[in-house]
Amino acid sequence: MVESFVRLMPKQGFQEWPSLMGDMAELCRETEYRLVKDGYRKATTLHIEDRNYKELMERINKDGLIYTPILKAAYSEGFIHEHKEAKEGEPFYWYGCVTKTYKEGQEFKKADGSAEQKKPNHIKLGKLLGYPECCIDYFNKKFPQNWDPIWIEKSGRVCGYPECNRLLRYFGVHITWHFSCSPVCEKTKEEGKKWFSVMKEMDKELAEKIYNLLSKSMTWDSYHGVVQIETPYFVGLSRTFPYLEKKRVINWEVKKK
Ligand SMILES: [Zn+2]
Repeated sequence: MVESFVRLMPKQGFQEWPSLMGDMAELCRETEYRLVKDGYRKATTLHIEDRNYKELMERINKDGLIYTPILKAAYSEGFIHEHKEAKEGEPFYWYGCVTKTYKEGQEFKKADGSAEQKKPNHIKLGKLLGYPECCIDYFNKKFPQNWDPIWIEKSGRVCGYPECNRLLRYFGVHITWHFSCSPVCEKTKEEGKKWFSVMKEMDKELAEKIYNLLSKSMTWDSYHGVVQIETPYFVGLSRTFPYLEKKRVINWEVKKK
């Protein structure tokens, strides 16, 4: 099995991209939090480490929100599809959720299931996270077949909305957080408008850079548990669901209006 990892290699002349992608991912995480704070959605997940515990908890308290710790999780690099409990003495971070109320926090913890080593209730989680119903349904059906379900029935040329583009999810860069059920999911596009307006309020220039990046043609090439994503600025690598028989390639293009 391929261990989880992420790598970003800038193309010549685009050396600033790895650090720029870090800033973009930070803005995306911040947007998730802000959407709960502003009441657009009930819950978001949040990882809290020892080094940022004080700062984050003080902020959550100040914002009048609730943090529900779910699992003491072991570290792994990059994108993961499940949280593993840290063993005694192993370094750990808290995996948990942020909500407006205690009740919603408890509902999320129960639906997540990882505290009790139960299977997650994806439908309930999706609703608490405020995802569109069509996409919750898609994820619930496809996740058991492929834990990285990016339009699993599609390959070759795929045209869609930038709001639905999840090909850079491994690096934390996207507008909307969920797996869209289709590259042209209208509900995701709608949700993305809300996201984008919140992003722009915080950092207009960076938000526009994210939108432009997701609108660029890119190739997502997946084989043997490693995915390579090539954009005009960099080549990124990450772990993904392993295709062993043959590779699957998506050539992403933004849908012309
Ligand atoms: Zn959808």
